[in-house]
Amino acid sequence: MEERRVLITGCAGFLGSHLCDRFVKEGYEVIGMDNLITGDLSNIEHLLKSEQFEFHHHDVAKYVHVPGDLDYILHFASPASPIDYLKIPIQTLKVSSLGTHNLLGLAKAKNARILVASTSEVYGDPLVHPQTEEYYGNVNPIGPRGVYDEAKRFQEALTMAYHTFHGLETRIVRIFNTYGPRMRLNDGRVLPAFIGQALRGEDLTVFGDGKQTRSFCYVDDLVEGIYRLLMSDYAAPVNIGNPDEITILDFAEEVIKLTNTSQKIIFKDLPKDDPLQRQPDIAKAKEILNWSPQISRAEGLKITFDYFKSLPEDALFKEHNTFEKFNK
Ligand code: UDP
Repeated sequence: MEERRVLITGCAGFLGSHLCDRFVKEGYEVIGMDNLITGDLSNIEHLLKSEQFEFHHHDVAKYVHVPGDLDYILHFASPASPIDYLKIPIQTLKVSSLGTHNLLGLAKAKNARILVASTSEVYGDPLVHPQTEEYYGNVNPIGPRGVYDEAKRFQEALTMAYHTFHGLETRIVRIFNTYGPRMRLNDGRVLPAFIGQALRGEDLTVFGDGKQTRSFCYVDDLVEGIYRLLMSDYAAPVNIGNPDEITILDFAEEVIKLTNTSQKIIFKDLPKDDPLQRQPDIAKAKEILNWSPQISRAEGLKITFDYFKSLPEDALFKEHNTFEKFNK
């Protein structure tokens, strides 16, 4: 049988790198693409030695050229934390709009099936709970998160248009908060923030009163859901996430317990447009993909904590150097 080839954008990022691992394991030839703004080569260092893996340093917002055949494309390039959106708002907009357009064009030219990474952020600060795929969302287009949320909403519209107008094989996954090894320690997201603070002996910063909720999915569960969605014949968006919802305050207490530290919790201002509640309705994923998360938060947190603990000590104190590297 001829080797199957897949292009994974954002391959040096948290989710992209785990997807590369999965496709290499499944026997694919994997082309990983990343402009390394927020990605880190150390996430795919182990893959660079593999004959099944090839790295292309490229910004997908510019024309994307990949020689040879492609069976699948997975578009996972995008900054994904509120701190990043504030620092690189234009790049955030471009990667999910211009970048998606380029990749849809590539998929069409190669007759490949494409899966794009969308997000629970398309629901904004949701007025429906839990969020089903039918809910249209409550998004502020010009708030600090607008550059991400609206680019992802546009991405979905463009992807569906290629599906209906060109008959392209497309898949859309709406990803809810996901965690696991290879998250950036200093990207501002709550899980690495809390674990980093605990390991440095600092107090844990809860924003607002901590009553806002999130539902955290372990990365291996997410990758399984994405793999199943790609192989399915379902073109409409599907939520993938863990419905086990928790308040941020309770989550901070869980991290303190897990890390066996005696840090206090301190309260800071809630960022603008911070969603009050978020929980995926995964009925569709269960029905269509026969998928549901298998890894409990206790289990997943332990693995993730052990990962962060195993990093060299200076990683704990280092600001991520992403933005110094990027000077355009
Ligand atoms: N958060 C917090 N302390 C932190 C970082 C984040 O209380 O040090 C809160 C944040 O305000 C939000 C939740 O944790 O309500 C999840 O934030 P994150 O940035 O991880 O993801 P998102 O808001 O995109 O779900």
